[in-house]
Amino acid sequence: MSTTSLETVSHRIGGLPTAGAASRTAPVHDPATGTVLRRVPLAERADVDAAVQAAARAFASWQDVSVVRRARVMFRLRDLLERHADELARLVASEHGKTVADARGEIARGIEVVEYACGVPELLKGQLSDQVSSDVDLLSFRQPLGVCVGITPFNFPVMVPLWMHPLAIATGNAFVLKPSERDPSASNRVAELYAEAGLPDGVFNVVHGDKAAVDALLEHPDVAAVSFVGSTPVARYVHGRASEQGKRVQALGGAKNHAVVLPDADLDFAATQLTAAGFGSAGQRCMAISVVVAVGAVADALVARLREKALAVRVGPGLDPASEMGPVISAAARDRIVGCLDATPAEIVVDGRGLAIDGDGFWVGPTLLDRVTPAMDAYREEIFGPVLSVVRVPTLDAAIELINANAYANGAAIFTGSGHAARTFRRRVEVGMIGVNVPIPVPMAFHSFGGFKQSLFGDHHVHGPEGIRFYTRAKAVTERWPEPTGAAAERVALHFPSAD
Ligand code: NAD
Repeated sequence: MSTTSLETVSHRIGGLPTAGAASRTAPVHDPATGTVLRRVPLAERADVDAAVQAAARAFASWQDVSVVRRARVMFRLRDLLERHADELARLVASEHGKTVADARGEIARGIEVVEYACGVPELLKGQLSDQVSSDVDLLSFRQPLGVCVGITPFNFPVMVPLWMHPLAIATGNAFVLKPSERDPSASNRVAELYAEAGLPDGVFNVVHGDKAAVDALLEHPDVAAVSFVGSTPVARYVHGRASEQGKRVQALGGAKNHAVVLPDADLDFAATQLTAAGFGSAGQRCMAISVVVAVGAVADALVARLREKALAVRVGPGLDPASEMGPVISAAARDRIVGCLDATPAEIVVDGRGLAIDGDGFWVGPTLLDRVTPAMDAYREEIFGPVLSVVRVPTLDAAIELINANAYANGAAIFTGSGHAARTFRRRVEVGMIGVNVPIPVPMAFHSFGGFKQSLFGDHHVHGPEGIRFYTRAKAVTERWPEPTGAAAERVALHFPSAD
């Protein structure tokens, strides 16, 4: 098919679809076939400026809409997302490649953030201290920041943006989303659902693009705060650039999540869980398990079980209900993963290279590496594909040391039958999210999500209570209403006032 006849995705600015000023576009692929489905515009500075201006105008009145009305928009959005979940899931599966069931799962986890945002009247309740001094009261409350920006990765095109915009908008901000240019369409559909839910035009905007759009957002004087999720090099850059510009910023980066298996673990249970956590979404999850740390004598039996289960994973197009795992996002991602496997000195127990499926899709099959060491690239790099690496260590202490020496610190899990070992692990391991016999410990929406070290730049995690704090700033008011007695004014006191 000629690329000129393809549909081009629109931006959504001020409530309207718009082609924008961009002359550059990029292809959006179906990763299962390699065909170009449509094209996406790559915004120029003028498009970004239009979106930020639309958001700034909308913010002027949205911040004064009562908190109860803002919550009601979230209730309606929640129902619309639920009603359109299957349609959204198919859209995600077609552009990302993950299975429809998996896409349905990310939408469900995203809807939970909207449900949390429905409670915004409670979440924004301030505090009042009565009579902190004679006739003096002190109250503190939080207000929105203004125009907030979200810059998001390809791997969760619905859920990761939903970590951000419902809380930003419910707390009274306006929002500009710059989703991944590789699977852009679901964000436009969410913008339409917001409009249907009664959100005023301009409160939620979508601009598509690449680095040029990101830079224009980071440098825009009317942007107050930036939430970023993506790879570590870009997270570090966004954090630095936005901070220099005086913006509030949270930038979540890459991950290398370890799962420790102790000899007292239920091995069949652990192997089943680890197979799902390693190969679900073709390993393209920020909380995917990529390293299995086999402790002591458990290794041979565990590797045998992982091998059997990896070979049984049904790989195929995400839109085929029989598939359990789809392709990776792009030809470049496939070539990078295969290149890493070609170069590794590790033992390749299950080899996903050369998987043959009809068409020119971006396929890599489930791959299991054994006897991986921390010096190997396969250990050090975030492979972000369907590759599970087994590292063998002698003790739980050695496992914890290994995890704590890693540059990334998003999640880690332990499989054990011992409460004592689990407690030691959760107290000593230096990562943001910990699973005990749970391989992908993604916190629910009413807790916060985030890691340490190179997995998060900034000091706020996303969603939950930290999300509410990120999108608001505090005011404290000290108030006195003296009785109008008409008596002579008190003597002037020049000392610093204290409670009396
Ligand atoms: P990416 O860093 O390539 O892209 C993320 C966003 O940044 C996209 O919107 C992209 O357009 C933009 N971008 C890309 N290069 C840029 C540049 N040089 N300058 C400015 N902006 C740029 O990430 P990706 O490949 O889309 O997503 C996968 C990565 O995201 C993985 O590293 C994964 O671990 C990470 N991730 C982390 C979390 C988390 O919670 N920590 C969650 C999801 C994904």
